[in-house]
Amino acid sequence: METQIIRMDEQHIDREQLAKAGEIIKAGGLVAFPTETVYGLGGDALNPESSKKIYAAKGRPSDNPLIIHIAKFQDLNLIVKEIPDLARKLAEAFWPGPLTMIFKKSDMVPYETTGGLETVAVRMPVHPVAMAFIEAAGGYVAAPSANRSGRPSPTLAKYVEEDMQGRIEMIIDGGGVKIGLESTIVDMTVEKPMILRPGFITKEMLEKVLQSVSEDQTMMSTDSGQVPKAPGMKYRHYAPKGDLTIVDGNEEQVIEYINREVSFLQEKGHKVGIIGTEATIARYCGDVCKSAGNRKDDNTIAKELYRILREFDDEDVTVIFSESFNTVGIGQAIMNRLLKAAGHKIIHL
Ligand code: AMP
Ligand code: MG
Repeated sequence: METQIIRMDEQHIDREQLAKAGEIIKAGGLVAFPTETVYGLGGDALNPESSKKIYAAKGRPSDNPLIIHIAKFQDLNLIVKEIPDLARKLAEAFWPGPLTMIFKKSDMVPYETTGGLETVAVRMPVHPVAMAFIEAAGGYVAAPSANRSGRPSPTLAKYVEEDMQGRIEMIIDGGGVKIGLESTIVDMTVEKPMILRPGFITKEMLEKVLQSVSEDQTMMSTDSGQVPKAPGMKYRHYAPKGDLTIVDGNEEQVIEYINREVSFLQEKGHKVGIIGTEATIARYCGDVCKSAGNRKDDNTIAKELYRILREFDDEDVTVIFSESFNTVGIGQAIMNRLLKAAGHKIIHL
């Protein structure tokens, strides 16, 4: 299959091109598209054959459900059994935006899309290209992140191309994404809404609207002995090829520890990568040292994390050390993804 690539930025939406993209979806094909979080791999959410194709293109286990993307709030009615009042409130506050809510599914939604579950995940992205594309595609686009299963989610169209070239009909290149980490997922089917995956919309932001929100205990630790409630969270996603360890401690200790390990590993023939930050990166003696951004603005780190993990794969580093990040605000999502990438390997100094 030849993958067609079309380009458009959010200020200049090309409706004619998007109409073609929409036709591909309606005919059962797949189109990758930009959103504010990461690139999505879209198919018709109401067509079981499309969902099967998404799993095949990603190499994703079929018990890992897809998120349905909509462009208008009223479109929610067709795919869910009921809209709880609290979900309406959250939608008013955060839709369109990087928030996914879990509802009881209606009969319109095939089990192929929900991985066999009676619930369905729904999001309304705010990216203008995503919105126009979803409308052109008929209103219901099932879309996981547009990476091959096990690789970091794509934050640029070139990464979608790397993973999906020849496997899907079209890629809409809308440039770099704004956030860089996947949406916050909140389960609205339980009495007290529960965060299943942290993202840009934080617990504090949700609590301003809901008063009280709980968190899946498996998000930040593996010691709870429980299985994550979002099926996708149990897989070791985002794993770089190099063996990644997070080092947590005060700045001086961390730099000293990592540099000592680097010398030791280099003597043994390893090529070592480092994930540091603007203020520290020049002080590391790794083979490849990358700054994730500025600690004064965690959003810069969220945006660059997946790009950095992907680049390390291309540089053939065998071992990677990363600084640790504060779990305040979006920092919780950053650490959640980093911990998963590291298989929860963290050294506390
Ligand atoms: P991705 O689209 O690649 O960001 O992955 C979608 C995430 O949403 C995965 O972690 C899924 O397990 C989760 N998800 C989708 N639908 C549901 C659902 N009905 N219940 C719980 N988690 C879900
Ligand atoms: Mg994903």
